[in-house]
Amino acid sequence: MTKPHAELPPCHDLALQLSAYLDGDLPADLCRDLEVHMGDCPDCRVVLDTLGRTVQIVRSLSDTPIFLPADVEARLLARLTEIARKAQQL
Ligand SMILES: [Zn+2]
Repeated sequence: MTKPHAELPPCHDLALQLSAYLDGDLPADLCRDLEVHMGDCPDCRVVLDTLGRTVQIVRSLSDTPIFLPADVEARLLARLTEIARKAQQL
């Protein structure tokens, strides 16, 4: 059985580089390898697509800080303290 793209990095190696690729941290030659591989590999395209969307969601969330009303924050803190105290008693 012949491997059509034996000279290209395997899926496993590329998966480790996908986040660097999405961040623009991957060297140009590795980007090219990855893009060539994905041209022939639907699996890796799906992974990149999913990862890309996840990164976008996380970035859009971190751009929008969550502000809790003071009373909600106080209740949340009280509840967390209570849970922590119970956990210590176990
Ligand atoms: Zn692949």
